[in-house]
Amino acid sequence: MCISKKVIQKQRSFFETGKSKDIGFRIEKLKTLKKAVIENEKEIMEALKNDLNKSPFESYATEIGFLLEEINYTIKHISKWVKPKKVKSSLKHFPSSSYIYTEPYGVILIIAPWNYPFQLALSPLVGAIAAGNCSIIKPSEYSQHTSAILDKLIRENFDESFITVVRGGREVAQKLLDEKFDYIFFTGSVQVGKIIMEAASKHLTPVTLELGGKSPCIVDETANIDLAAKRIIWGKSLNAGQTCVAPDYLLVQKNMKDKLINKMSEYITKFYGTDPLTNKQYPKIINEKHFNRLLKLMENGNIVCGGQYTDETMHIAPTIIDGVTLESPIMQEEIFGPLLPVLEFENLNQALTVVNKYPKPLALYLFTNDKQKEKYVINNTSFGGGCINDTIIHLATPHMPFGGVGESGMGAYHGKASFDTFSHKKSVMKKSNILDVPLKYPPFEDDLRLLKKVMK
Ligand code: NAD
Repeated sequence: MCISKKVIQKQRSFFETGKSKDIGFRIEKLKTLKKAVIENEKEIMEALKNDLNKSPFESYATEIGFLLEEINYTIKHISKWVKPKKVKSSLKHFPSSSYIYTEPYGVILIIAPWNYPFQLALSPLVGAIAAGNCSIIKPSEYSQHTSAILDKLIRENFDESFITVVRGGREVAQKLLDEKFDYIFFTGSVQVGKIIMEAASKHLTPVTLELGGKSPCIVDETANIDLAAKRIIWGKSLNAGQTCVAPDYLLVQKNMKDKLINKMSEYITKFYGTDPLTNKQYPKIINEKHFNRLLKLMENGNIVCGGQYTDETMHIAPTIIDGVTLESPIMQEEIFGPLLPVLEFENLNQALTVVNKYPKPLALYLFTNDKQKEKYVINNTSFGGGCINDTIIHLATPHMPFGGVGESGMGAYHGKASFDTFSHKKSVMKKSNILDVPLKYPPFEDDLRLLKKVMK
């Protein structure tokens, strides 16, 4: 029997004991996870440095601290979330009371990408544990160092019949997908998302797909250009642009374009110095394949800032590219790197026409001081989530669900949304035996008039 089959069977047997459903058990395991993360902080940071050259600050802000916040929030609220929720019963069911119970799905498969390799493997796990499930995590083969520490951390702290890490590439993922899981949580590309959904459909397994796409960033003439430039460059350079919600391309009102480009160039220098390639805090591109792909995307348009790169360490400087058209190769795929193409518009409708040409993005950012325009953009575009006058930060809160729509994904998580994602909602109506209203039972004689009064 292959390893994955064996582990799944073990987890299924453990799930059937009902131990993972116990609230005390769930809280204890969340605390174990928290302790393990804190104890391994140094090694996690080293792994992230090796895989992506992330600085300790960036590693803590976007991976370790992010995860700890998620765990703490979940521990604080879980007792409230697990309580059956009493809801109204309608008059036609009188006398009765109605409750929504949450129950875990069973054995979960979490497939993670390489760009935030620690956090994106373990944040879903927090929700899976909180909801009472067992989990198998398949981290990315590209972020080897982080996958190794994930494996070690889980092996040393959890029984494999409860949580296991299975390492490997697409072949391993496909072997796992041949098996029946009770829920699949996938984070990665649109192309692989389709493969996951197809595989899941064979077993009618529900899925959450956290995917990517081209997230636009719109800057209008009323925006605070200095702040916009600072926040756009911050969001685009974080993890060297290898962020699913990074502003992919910029749409700026024509009369503000030069000013914005100049300010953004200034901020690149302020953040990373005149030679970002040697800046110790600036992340690298994950591998040669992506590095070469990005270099090719730089070939069209005019580079107005940046453009430097080094094969040796696979660094590419934050790069602003002007003179790009919708037909340019850089506008045909998710960039997923530190390249920012700039397009201009004369009025907001032109900008929205561009946005709405593409599949629904994971994120949208609008920089404006005009409340009407803010409302107009929110009401006339569909996107997973986003910010007004900032980038990225909407996902860094447990108070809002995070996820895509259309091609950028389905389902959401973070905070309570994670608990909900990994819980089935079981609706139960409790009927009283004291009274049995005869209306619903045949033979139906003159009851239609009465029924119409009750059901309207
Ligand atoms: P990817 O889709 O190539 O890989 C993701 C995972 O799927 C990896 O673990 C990989 O081993 C596995 N995989 C690859 N091919 C497979 C196959 N044929 N069958 C089964 N599994 C397979 O994505 P990536 O390159 O690791 O990550 C980048 C993508 O992820 C970008 O598109 C980015 O926008 C997206 N992303 C989305 C989010 C989000 O929260 N929505 C977060 C991070 C990244």
